[in-house]
Amino acid sequence: MREWEQEEPLIIERGKGPYLIDTEGNRYLDGTSSIWVNLHGHRHPTLDRAIKRQLDKVAHSTLFGLSNPPAIQLARALIRIAPKGLARVFYSDNGSTAVEVALKMAVQYWQQRSPEAGPKHSFLHLKLAYHGDTIGAVSVGNIELFHSRFKSLLFHAVEADPPYCYRCPLSLTYPSCRMACLDPIEQILKEHHRTLAGFIIEPLVQAAAGMLTSPPGYLKRIRELCTKYNVLLIADEVATGFGRTGKMFACQHEQVTPDLMAISKGLTGGYMPLAATLTTDEIYQAFLGKYEDFKTFFHGHSYTGNPLSCAVALANLEVFKKDKTLVRLQPKIKTMARLLQPLWQLPHVGDIRQRGFIAAIELVEDKKTRKPYPLETRMGHRVTQEARRHGLLLRPLGHIIVLLPPLSTDALTLARMVATVHRAIATVTGTSSLTPA
Ligand SMILES: *Cc1c(COP(=O)(O)O)cnc(C)c1O
Repeated sequence: MREWEQEEPLIIERGKGPYLIDTEGNRYLDGTSSIWVNLHGHRHPTLDRAIKRQLDKVAHSTLFGLSNPPAIQLARALIRIAPKGLARVFYSDNGSTAVEVALKMAVQYWQQRSPEAGPKHSFLHLKLAYHGDTIGAVSVGNIELFHSRFKSLLFHAVEADPPYCYRCPLSLTYPSCRMACLDPIEQILKEHHRTLAGFIIEPLVQAAAGMLTSPPGYLKRIRELCTKYNVLLIADEVATGFGRTGKMFACQHEQVTPDLMAISKGLTGGYMPLAATLTTDEIYQAFLGKYEDFKTFFHGHSYTGNPLSCAVALANLEVFKKDKTLVRLQPKIKTMARLLQPLWQLPHVGDIRQRGFIAAIELVEDKKTRKPYPLETRMGHRVTQEARRHGLLLRPLGHIIVLLPPLSTDALTLARMVATVHRAIATVTGTSSLTPA
């Protein structure tokens, strides 16, 4: 915070398409999609109009005992595009709460579904997982820097190694490893399934860990294992949902239907806070009963199902259709891959990972040994500061540079973004004296 106070703060006043414009009138390309939320660019007329129209009706009314048309229509629309089998929608207002809802729903489900089986109330998650910043979400997360301070507040969860192929926990290489990292996971499930309510996972891409991409077939195997051991699969699609990976939801790449699915970031096209937890009819049924059975799901937020948010989320889905967002994204994903190729040549680029319209470039001190830069060199930070000087806004994850443009970004703009990243990495790592910035 002291450093931030000393730096020249950047105050964003306006936006247009892939650009953000500060109070001084400087234009920047939005290389993080405003932290992974924006899809169709800023000030999209359809999205702007949806909020204005809803504002002429009502800004907010509660979902406690009532409902509203945008919330109803959006729930229907979400079920139409979600992995097959998800049939029910529970609203909340950010990714962390969508995850909390999934965890609590899983626990209450097992209590009501088969109380005689004993408590199924713990969770399995991957190391380096990030599921949000609230206490429950942190309990099933594992990003040392963000989480270690709060350990005393967390509930116990079981951890397994992630498929971080560049730094394989088993020191194996894909594909000859044949995904051997799944064996310890099966072992854990075998041992703990009686007490495990669910396995929570970021499907295909562990985002905050540095965009760790799982090998093809990994998620499908996790689904099979969860089914085999009677543990609910909770897909946290907060980052991967809404086209980011090239399909509407990451689970759809491997024809996987999770038992619970958390969505938020792209849900409103980056306009308003809104989240939802989707689930199956099977789970929904376990929450039905007589009043005095108190089987209802005991969770709710003041702004749940906010009509302005739901209206703009509906407009977001409309834009997907009208602008053929997913169809037009496919060639741009290929272009991104092609544009990233030359970066392999940089002496401090250790790994480049891409999944859909997400790219991550892992910087290392030593390319051969894959030795990371010492934390205090702040390489990621310095590269993003350099990119900012050339009109591109980025935010690093440690020493990993992440590029995540709005899905609507055209090929030419994308090329400019990648060129800026390339130049910034070359400049900063080339001249680095390894002293703190
Ligand atoms: C961002 C994120 C969250 C948390 O969402 P918030 O809206 O920031 O609370 C949860 N899970 C994943 C995978 C995320 O990327």
